[in-house]
Amino acid sequence: MAQVTCSFCGRNKKDVDLMVSGISAHICNFCIDQAYQILGEEEKSKKTTKSPKFKLKKPKELTEYLNQYVIGQYDAKKVLTVAVYNHYKRLLQKNTDEDEVKIEKSNIIMVGDTGTGKTYLAKTLARVLEVPFCIADATVLTEAGYVGEDVESILTRLLQAADYNVEAAERGIVYIDEIDKIARKSDNPSITRDVSGEGVQQALLKLLEGTVVNVPPQGGRKHPDQKMIAVNTENILFVCGGAFDGIGRHIARRLNTQPLGFNKSKEGQQVDRQNLLQYVTAQDLKSFGLIPELIGRLPVVTHLDPLDKAALKSILTEPKNALTKQYIKLMAMEGVNLVFEESGIDYIVDKAVEYNLGARGLRSICEAIITDAMYELPSDDSVKELVIDVKYAKGQFDKSKFKKLQVA
Ligand code: ADP
Repeated sequence: MAQVTCSFCGRNKKDVDLMVSGISAHICNFCIDQAYQILGEEEKSKKTTKSPKFKLKKPKELTEYLNQYVIGQYDAKKVLTVAVYNHYKRLLQKNTDEDEVKIEKSNIIMVGDTGTGKTYLAKTLARVLEVPFCIADATVLTEAGYVGEDVESILTRLLQAADYNVEAAERGIVYIDEIDKIARKSDNPSITRDVSGEGVQQALLKLLEGTVVNVPPQGGRKHPDQKMIAVNTENILFVCGGAFDGIGRHIARRLNTQPLGFNKSKEGQQVDRQNLLQYVTAQDLKSFGLIPELIGRLPVVTHLDPLDKAALKSILTEPKNALTKQYIKLMAMEGVNLVFEESGIDYIVDKAVEYNLGARGLRSICEAIITDAMYELPSDDSVKELVIDVKYAKGQFDKSKFKKLQVA
């Protein structure tokens, strides 16, 4: 019988791991590998030359989607969805005439207590967006030359999210979390110069306003030899978020020192002292320690409301992937019908409030209550139903590590 050789490289069958035979030709595993790589590169170059296409999603459409997951926070939703919609429109505008009105991007800053859904809002929004999106943490950023990450590392993440398609990354959206942590510690720059915070703010300026930045594709300084990729940030939308602990004091002070006319014109409209964040303005951000140049590049300011009992209850039960729905599904897979009674749900919410844990705490409290059942029931076929009422919830909770914690 004639020797079988690869029709592409001529290798003998005995010299290769695999030989695939066609009607009148053969191909070895080496050539398959090579052909596959060529195919990949071809696809990639097609991707980079294709201009990004996306469906214009209207603010209300985006909000409808957000509502399925994020409870309340209507102001933030409105501001975010409008900004994203305008961002899309900017990307679609045709820059032909010199005198044409150019739509400028409006970066956003969100102020809200920790655990009220800032990151969650940004993440949920990212799922419907058809542009690359990444989340960065301001606390790890330092001025160039210090231990930590340079601000350019933010763009490394965006590039990764865009699969290294520079053109797509240049139209992306970046969420920078914990922006308040780089605030200057004192409102008066001449007394204490807080170099790290202010330095990072300065470094962020050029990114936010739009310039060409050389980005290390692998990030960090561990790979000094990597070839930099130039990324233009002019069309990148930046959304910043922070808890701004203590900003209420600045807001209250400002509201109290408003000129008389202010109170007159708003006669009858009481200041809601429980939720001062709703009145936040750029001025308060400055008092808190953001430098005016940075605030100027984040022209849209919005807030998130604190979560009260009713909101926490909704978060626990209503969203599409609400915690209770997740536990019910997990138990159903064991053939157990899990029922959350109103009294049990109220108990969980009360504990989240008592321990000052916010929405983030709901999960750990649920775990404390349900873990025993999730441990026992898979090995016990006799139980077909589990009802979480206040009695069961309290019994389990009192056994848990939470009891050992001091009430915050
Ligand atoms: P932060 O404001 O500190 O960024 P997160 O967005 O990380 O808070 O919120 C923590 C968790 O709490 C989220 O992962 C989400 O499960 C839940 N959560 C917070 N706020 C809401 C909300 N408004 N609607 C639904 N879930 C929420």
